[in-house]
Amino acid sequence: MKNTDFKKIEKKWQKKWEEKKIFKVKKNSKKKKFYCLDMFPYPSGEGLHMGHAFVYTLGDIFARFKRLQGFNVLYPIGYDSLGLPAENAAIKIGMHPLKYTQKSIDNFMKQQKAMGWSYDWSRLIKTSDPSYYKWDQWIFLKMLEKGLAYRKKSAVNYCKKCDTVLANEQVVNGKCWRHEDTNVEIKHLEQWFFKVTDYADELLEKLEKLDWPDRAKKMQRNWIGRSEGTEIDFEIETPRNKISNVIIVHGSNQKEREKLKGGSPPQNERNWLPWIKKELEKKGIKCEIPLMPESWAPKYKDWKKELEKLKIDENSVLIGHSAGGAFLVRWLGETKKEIRKLILVSPGKAAGWHMSYIDDLYGNKTYENLQKFVDEEIILFTAKDDYKHHITNAYNYAKELPAKVLCFEKGFGHFVEKSMGTQEFPELLERIISRQKWPIFTTRPDTIFGVTFMVVSAQHPRLMELVIADQEKEVKDFLKKLKSVSEKELEKLEKEGIFTGSYAINPLNNEKVPVYAGNFVVADYGSGMVMAVPAHDQRDFEFAKKYGIKIRQVIKGGDVKKEAYTGNGVLINSERFNGLESNKAKWNITQYLEGEGLGRKTVNYKLRDWLISRQRYWGTPIPIVYCDKCGIVPVPEKDLPVKLPEKVNFGKGNPLETAKKWINVKCPKCGNKARRETDTMDTFVNSSWYYLRYTDPGNNKKIFSKSKVDYWGPIDQYIGGPEHITMHLIYVRFYTKFLRDIGLLKFDEPALSYFTQGIVSGEDGNKMSKSKGNVIEPLETIEKYGADTLRLALVSFGSSDSDSSWDEKIVIGGRKFLEKVYTYFSKLDEGKDTPLTQNKINKLSKEVQENIGAFKHNLAIIKLREFFNYISDKKISKKTAKSFLSVLSIYCPFISEELWSRLGDKTFVSTSNWPKFDESKINEVFEREEEIVNKAGSDINHIKQILGIDKPYTYIYTIPSETKLFKNSKQLLMKLSGSKVVGVYSSQEVKENYKLDPQEKAKKAKPGKPGIYISRTPLDI
Ligand SMILES: [Zn+2]
Ligand SMILES: [Zn+2]
Repeated sequence: MKNTDFKKIEKKWQKKWEEKKIFKVKKNSKKKKFYCLDMFPYPSGEGLHMGHAFVYTLGDIFARFKRLQGFNVLYPIGYDSLGLPAENAAIKIGMHPLKYTQKSIDNFMKQQKAMGWSYDWSRLIKTSDPSYYKWDQWIFLKMLEKGLAYRKKSAVNYCKKCDTVLANEQVVNGKCWRHEDTNVEIKHLEQWFFKVTDYADELLEKLEKLDWPDRAKKMQRNWIGRSEGTEIDFEIETPRNKISNVIIVHGSNQKEREKLKGGSPPQNERNWLPWIKKELEKKGIKCEIPLMPESWAPKYKDWKKELEKLKIDENSVLIGHSAGGAFLVRWLGETKKEIRKLILVSPGKAAGWHMSYIDDLYGNKTYENLQKFVDEEIILFTAKDDYKHHITNAYNYAKELPAKVLCFEKGFGHFVEKSMGTQEFPELLERIISRQKWPIFTTRPDTIFGVTFMVVSAQHPRLMELVIADQEKEVKDFLKKLKSVSEKELEKLEKEGIFTGSYAINPLNNEKVPVYAGNFVVADYGSGMVMAVPAHDQRDFEFAKKYGIKIRQVIKGGDVKKEAYTGNGVLINSERFNGLESNKAKWNITQYLEGEGLGRKTVNYKLRDWLISRQRYWGTPIPIVYCDKCGIVPVPEKDLPVKLPEKVNFGKGNPLETAKKWINVKCPKCGNKARRETDTMDTFVNSSWYYLRYTDPGNNKKIFSKSKVDYWGPIDQYIGGPEHITMHLIYVRFYTKFLRDIGLLKFDEPALSYFTQGIVSGEDGNKMSKSKGNVIEPLETIEKYGADTLRLALVSFGSSDSDSSWDEKIVIGGRKFLEKVYTYFSKLDEGKDTPLTQNKINKLSKEVQENIGAFKHNLAIIKLREFFNYISDKKISKKTAKSFLSVLSIYCPFISEELWSRLGDKTFVSTSNWPKFDESKINEVFEREEEIVNKAGSDINHIKQILGIDKPYTYIYTIPSETKLFKNSKQLLMKLSGSKVVGVYSSQEVKENYKLDPQEKAKKAKPGKPGIYISRTPLDI
């Protein structure tokens, strides 16, 4: 293209801006601040792509605009430089992540400068710098202190061959990204979490006040997923353990004879024994409590005889209280009878008592390895206010048998009614049946009578507890086939499951329903198990059809033979709740459950705590050491940062595991040998507070100075891709609230206003991709047309918030426009502005300003071009010329800067002032007049064509009030219509001299529309 050397101009101004540091800002309490921020890039080896070019241009336009408006604009940039791609590159091409990252950053920077983005480069941050991630670690310690960082087991993707955990994006169709033949397995590992859920309510509430796109708010609302509902306790029965009977042996009592004489009930009917018997029988479990002979002086052989009258088998549960417990230990040791469970409540023990009957009853032996006769467990109950020697007994037994001790707080004593204050003993009851209770969350308690199965998450860490022996193989095979999927994919997944062998008991009708392990239930939503109501939930319906599970309608409506009926309605098949309407039934059923202690009203969130552990190298080390003695020990603040060791091996396992020197440290607490945590943090941690660090990037004493953050924060305009609405924007809001709560911030929200840009597709309308061959590189475009043209084009394709396609014609058109602008302003023919010009420049400033506020840059560009077309053949004042360049500079800063200097200005247009528009100069009459004249011009053209006259003589007859306007516009009309001559007369004049209007066209004159006469020859006047 033409001769203007845009490349030279661009280089020149890049250099000048850098030399003069014109975009560097300082805190200035007298000036109003504006914080404009683009989401910082991940510096990939491939460099800047068109998506980057677009979004950062939008940010730059906004920053430049606010700067011209007189704000103290903070517009920083940095690099989100930790993360997986650098590590993958290390594995693939053998380049150390440190080197890879630095190379990528250098490359990025060059390109960013070429684009003319007006960053304050002095505030550059890189998250891979220890001076940055030191503060990630510091925040981690603060969270740990406040109980917001914690460890728990969680499912991870694991590749046997890599011997390490994979990120979701490293799993391709259920296989490892490096080992296409290797299935990714699911493992449960201890992981670190941040308790985002503590802020769920506030995250939801404060959302309403933000100036964010509605779509973004909606996505966050869904992500947080608050739902009100009911939590219902379901007992789970694992039937390999059908209890055949429970036998309870009471203790001995020296004063029993006197007690009986005094009218006391016999010993097998006292304390908690009758209550337990009643409760067990309610559950259909046989309970026997023999009255042992002569309990005031018991003899072992008599008690043995009495006990052996009862049927005892491998599914019997034996319980002994006090002396009864000691008796059972001896009996079991001697008979070697196999039983299911042994529970000793405050047991006695032979321990040098000098009472013959006790020695006889207990025997002198100890009974080691009794456990091998007990299928499930031996449990000992004791309490802090139990007799001292009984507490000792319990712990001695615990070692010898061995057994598990459950030590209760005070209030149990020796487990008799006198010390317990009640006959009820639910703790024992629960232990006997050891049915697990699972709280199940539902928003539809009204459908509880329609529950016909349950589904537990296949990734639940406690799943195997529910699986019976017969089902073990099948369940394990099922788990092997499971693909690890992301949250999004979960929805689309084919729902599959496998029976565990366990049953859940519906607390409302005591019905037993099968428990399945399913691939579509999330392990940490609620308790990880859901109740399934196939008649009223489509997902459950499909599952039930697939596995032949029964479907029971409990709400009237629909045709549940065909599909689930998910609406509300009147209850049926729901016993005492029949006839109630859904909403009323929800309430009544919840009330009923609450009254029975079987359920409660609750709020549940889809939002999960944030799993931050990554078993990878290129991330922030978690500042924790593990000590055999002290357990989990945080690294003291003074020892931060825990730096990543450089020497590690890539390829197998977590590379950090290979840094032996780094791993082995002294415990900060006790000085003994300890091990460093080798997990690093998710890189979303780094981006959750970077916007705060920009306010004070060099601070090496504190995370940031409070006064600086108070001045600059929060972000006034945040710009970034729609893909960050959920994770990043949830986390950055969570961090902000946490840092506020520990007194570091005064504000609640990180970004008051948020804009998401659309995607610029390839010229064929498809997403730019190498495989489609439609990728357009920003650098190549700059090379060909210049950066100003690229910037102009990117915002001209369409409205910035919606998707658009690359259009080379628009690019070329933009370049031509800039050429003309360059030519016009390089040799500006100065003159006085006409009122119309003044009207136009004021209007331009006003309208572009409105368009920028709404990110409607495409409309602003049209206004700019219209204005330029108008002035292109006119003289304008220097002031108007400069106003135009100021406006143009936010889009095309290089050429504007050059032309600004050619007008003789020694300052920078980038730091000039936005032309304040003067409403009084904007005169709608001018616009209206221009419109009328233009219309007349095109009317003449039209008639000209009909008559086939090329260069006519044209006569116009106007109403008297418009005569002056048209007389003044003769030149313009000639130009517009290609007429030789234009004559203008008022209809009044014509009446007096008919020769002026031979065809009586004046009669046609109306306001805004004159009569027109066109002729090959001039009028004979
Ligand atoms: Zn692998
Ligand atoms: Zn220690």
